[in-house]
Amino acid sequence: MQSKVLTQYLQSNLDNLKEQGLYNEIDALSEANGPIIHINGRELINLSSNNYLGLANDARLISVANRANEKYGVGAGAVRTINGTMDIHEELEAKIAQFKHTEAAIAFQSGFNCNMGAISAVMDKNDVIFSDSLNHASIIDGCRLSRATIIRYQHSDMNDLKQQIETAGNNYTKKMIITDGVFSMDGDIAKLDEIVAIAKQYDCMVYVDDAHGTGVMGQGAGTVKHFGLQKEVDFQMGTLSKAIGVVGGYVAGSQELIDWLKVRARPFLFSTSLTPASAAASIEAINILMESTDLHDKLWENGDYLKQGLSALGFNIGNSKTPITPCILGDEKLSQQFSKRLNEEGVYAKAIVFPTVPMNTGRIRNMPTASHTKQQLDRALAIYELVGKELGVI
Ligand SMILES: *Cc1c(COP(=O)(O)O)cnc(C)c1O
Repeated sequence: MQSKVLTQYLQSNLDNLKEQGLYNEIDALSEANGPIIHINGRELINLSSNNYLGLANDARLISVANRANEKYGVGAGAVRTINGTMDIHEELEAKIAQFKHTEAAIAFQSGFNCNMGAISAVMDKNDVIFSDSLNHASIIDGCRLSRATIIRYQHSDMNDLKQQIETAGNNYTKKMIITDGVFSMDGDIAKLDEIVAIAKQYDCMVYVDDAHGTGVMGQGAGTVKHFGLQKEVDFQMGTLSKAIGVVGGYVAGSQELIDWLKVRARPFLFSTSLTPASAAASIEAINILMESTDLHDKLWENGDYLKQGLSALGFNIGNSKTPITPCILGDEKLSQQFSKRLNEEGVYAKAIVFPTVPMNTGRIRNMPTASHTKQQLDRALAIYELVGKELGVI
């Protein structure tokens, strides 16, 4: 029997979430997470994945992953520092460094793990971290784990960032500015040029989480490349789980930084390595991105098309500068209801509500990918128009 105290805790909190429209129902896909998905026997146009370039179900990646499974087995068998490092992991790290124009790179099992490990490997209780108010949950948790003082600055507000650094003064041993490269729920881009200039002025490190920039910005190489700042950003963190299409995370930076992370980042030391198939597929994905910008270009074309369409219908698509296309509705329950109606009409676009985004900024987050056809996007826009009118949004 589950203990009474736990039952009480769970029931009251679950009921509470459901009443507020904050309880998330999870749908299971019965096939790949492509432009069309299948849920409970229904076929839906998918606008909710981070499979930006369609690589998660690309035949080339599947083929190398299959070969890696045959050669290395399905699991790495140990943590990286014991004997879970295979040549394919080292090959992946060399490939990431080449892709990101850095001396070296370290791969993790996920982007979340990476932020847990890398921030706390360098920062400690005598340090201070200046963190954008809209940074991803894994950055927030990674910062907390480090026990450094965390000072949030207003989203992309460079005056506030400066002010906070001035106010913090010289009470700390090390200072770090940390930001998403592309903000995941809004699609706007960090002002990295200004951040790097401020960091120089005040002697801060710079850590950029480019989970949503890789494959999307800088001709595919990411937001840091977009600004030409490969030599100025200390930590180019990213994920292999979004545009790259597989799973995993990494930091690219100086050889010294990577040497240090390999002896101090705890998920690298205490959690089993990335599967060999994931490493192989990620290498293939990066090769594809380095060879051609075709997928990247198609993604932008589709993103612009959907944004223009939604905007012309009168929806508030916020301040996105990338293919991430939020449709901001405000109210949490309205957002949930909107998403449910889209789903009934054949579009899968998830409502994003608190705590993923601030209260009263509930939204539908649309993510067109390189694999969508114009016809699918037109169909999605027609359904948006129908539901938007029905619910009095447009
Ligand atoms: C998704 C995401 C992560 C986590 O990456 P995973 O590889 O999925 O664990 C980290 N940072 C940001 C900004 C993200 O959007």
